[in-house]
Amino acid sequence: MEKINYGRLLDDKLRELGISGERPSLLLHACCAPCSSHTLWLLDKYFRITLYFCNPNIAPEEEYDYRREELKRLVREMRLSVQIIEEDYDPAPFYELAKGLEDQPERGERCRKCIGYRLEKTAQKAKETGAEYFSTTLTISPHKDCAFINEKGAELSEKYGVPYLFSDLKKHDGYKHSIQLSKQYSLYRQDYCGCIYSKMSREAQKAEGSQK
Ligand code: SF4
Repeated sequence: MEKINYGRLLDDKLRELGISGERPSLLLHACCAPCSSHTLWLLDKYFRITLYFCNPNIAPEEEYDYRREELKRLVREMRLSVQIIEEDYDPAPFYELAKGLEDQPERGERCRKCIGYRLEKTAQKAKETGAEYFSTTLTISPHKDCAFINEKGAELSEKYGVPYLFSDLKKHDGYKHSIQLSKQYSLYRQDYCGCIYSKMSREAQKAEGSQK
């Protein structure tokens, strides 16, 4: 099967929208400030963005609070008129979906369920709030399965009747730009994906590295 170029799909959509007309509304799932930095920089010209901070995967709670506060600080410091919808910390749905998948490596079944859950919550919220599009910042990460995220977005778009904005945000040096913006705004850049399992795996890697 031919590989879909999701970066090009985003380029085409942005070209079609242009930057002079009325901007459609976009509910954008945000995992953290660093991933949102380039994404906001790029998309704010084309959309009226509302960020959706819905990440029950993040552990511990202090980490959740810190990532959310950094996201709010970024929006303030970028001087964007972007709203943020924040979900209260409730990790129960994540632990439910991760049952039996605790030892899976990153990009495995646990991650597919975790990303699918957050995307579905975003699609539901987009429907509820009347957003014209929904999407996520997650495709900026070189560690994530971009094709899976976009395929899931397309499936949920069908289910909820809200258009999904396809993307591969790491294209055009998007990931590199997010690192530059993180430095510029002194953003906290976490060294693990988010859940307790990714935290433990990162700590094990660091311990192994320090023994070499
Ligand atoms: S590693 Fe990241 S994507 Fe995978 S389950 Fe944990 S938080 Fe979710």
